[in-house]
Amino acid sequence: MGNRDASVSQVGQAWEGEVMQKDATHQPNTGRCVVRRKPLPLSVRLWSRVDLGAGPDGCWLWLGSTNVRGYGQIRREPEGNALRGAKTTTHRAAWELTYGPIPDGLHVCHRCDTPRCVNPAHLWLGTHAENLADMKAKGRAARGERSSSARLNSKQVQVIKRLLAVGACSPKELSVLAGVTPSAIDAIKHEKTWRHIDAGL
Ligand SMILES: [Zn+2]
Repeated sequence: MGNRDASVSQVGQAWEGEVMQKDATHQPNTGRCVVRRKPLPLSVRLWSRVDLGAGPDGCWLWLGSTNVRGYGQIRREPEGNALRGAKTTTHRAAWELTYGPIPDGLHVCHRCDTPRCVNPAHLWLGTHAENLADMKAKGRAARGERSSSARLNSKQVQVIKRLLAVGACSPKELSVLAGVTPSAIDAIKHEKTWRHIDAGL
């Protein structure tokens, strides 16, 4: 699978029905013809169970089973005489089908933070450290402005930090000014929240 378009065109074939197909093989030992169930190719099993409704730039959501962390799971092609392939995650499978093998030790990471997403354009390869740094950065963002409980935006936080730095206002006064609790101001002061916002002084 050299490129994304080739993968997508397979989806267009809209494979319906059974996930397994029958394959008659001749057994030389017994002289009998045995009908063995053979899994469909990984590309068919993956792309036929993806919701592409969000369009080329949106998240392509895996509709099959997921693991405890919310990632889609699928079996690889069986190797040798094995009846079933090893389990992998659907975003790793999507990467491999689109771009080729994943180098040892590298992680397939989501730009979109959507574990079920298998849009190859939303996936990037990173080391364990890069993956952790990315999650940490996103975690900070989630704790800050994007959090549903956030009452402040980054500009307000910068002003609060400046006022704290120059000692112009007490945390209690700032909490009244900003409309948040004193403990929220304390958390900013002690860099428990909004650590990524610089006072810019
Ligand atoms: Zn996505």
